[in-house]
Amino acid sequence: MHSVLLVAPHNSYRIHAYIEASKHLDVELVIASQSEYSLVSAVADGIQIDFADDDISLQRILEANQRHHFQAVITSDDGGVRLAAKVGQALGLSANHPDSAELTRRKDLARSRLQACGVPVPAFKLVNLKQELANQLQGITYPVVVKPLSMSGSKGVIRVDNQQQCIKALHRVEKIQAHVSHPVERDSVLLESYISGEEVAYEGLLHQGKLKQLTIFDKPGPMEGPFFEETYYVTPSRLSDKEQALIEARVAEACAAYGLREGPIHAELRLQGDEAYIIEIASRTIGGDCADMLKFGLNIGVEELVLLQALGKPVDIPVLKKSVGVLMIPIPSQGVLRRVEGISQAKKVEYITDVGISVRDGYELTPLPEGSSYLGFIFAKAPTAELVEHALRQAHACLNIRIAPSFKLFKA
Ligand code: ADP
Repeated sequence: MHSVLLVAPHNSYRIHAYIEASKHLDVELVIASQSEYSLVSAVADGIQIDFADDDISLQRILEANQRHHFQAVITSDDGGVRLAAKVGQALGLSANHPDSAELTRRKDLARSRLQACGVPVPAFKLVNLKQELANQLQGITYPVVVKPLSMSGSKGVIRVDNQQQCIKALHRVEKIQAHVSHPVERDSVLLESYISGEEVAYEGLLHQGKLKQLTIFDKPGPMEGPFFEETYYVTPSRLSDKEQALIEARVAEACAAYGLREGPIHAELRLQGDEAYIIEIASRTIGGDCADMLKFGLNIGVEELVLLQALGKPVDIPVLKKSVGVLMIPIPSQGVLRRVEGISQAKKVEYITDVGISVRDGYELTPLPEGSSYLGFIFAKAPTAELVEHALRQAHACLNIRIAPSFKLFKA
């Protein structure tokens, strides 16, 4: 039996899907995670690691390898990409180089690399939060996007239209990343010129440096900020063949510039004028519940494709058979979630396949830019992408999200 190591944060949304995929393929899946408190037995029985300490984690994984003889290493989330690359290197498996993996995590280094390789990127500048700000902002043309160097899920990402807003946003992001241990990542922020065009997500698989497309999602807007929730993902894309070819070409160039060679790719791009600008490249599948929805369209889970490819088996990428889409329901305001009303009406909307709320009643909600998660999801499947988008919007309109203000007795 083949044995595959999955490096995954214990709260990853994707662990379950990888467990199911490995059972289906009759592959042993060993999970390396912060497993001590996990209720999921495959995580609790896996390898206990510490994502803050790659050396100790690597050591424990190498010890476990004596028993399991891993044939492949994969990861589910951004947080595991660097460690998985180090494991791959140490065990001589086909995996990305740790330096390439690091570029998918550090936005400033990634921007510099793309620019050096001639891949179109928005103009960018690194700002040091410990130095006088107004001086550093001289000559900037607004609007710009302020973003942390190494966070994800749009946390701390803020669009600003003038210097006053920019300074306010920089102070806000400084608080959001105050706990980050790496000094450069804690004390710096990236500024990027705002790309106003349509956004898309590209999903693909890399093998020996060659990129194969799974699909392109449109992300119908508006996504103009100041904060950038994940909202609608609808596939197949309604963009022209020429635009889709440009997107694929830019993603392939970016992967080559990073030096990425193996595994899943999730990229976000924005189109402006005749160009497609890379917003980010991640070395994992699409996040959260979105990957489940892709299964409806492809008739096979993305995780199964990832496992097959990691084991060096032939991977036939299926053609998308239906139009599918998801709305990641944004958190509308700060407070305590009382209840979500209208779920049964939303489920009855034509073409809606599922509505799920991931947060329990009574939980404190924190919207972006300080928060990072979404409230739940709505899935749709229909004969056309237009109908999918329409159904998602209609179902969302049925929901009434009741949030009570939260009062803190003591100031934190
Ligand atoms: P994260 O990794 O936290 O998701 P991203 O850099 O991907 O951060 O940005 C999150 C979202 O913010 C993007 O999906 C996009 O909608 C918006 N965004 C980021 N950078 C830009 C930019 N330069 N121009 C326009 N929108 C941007």
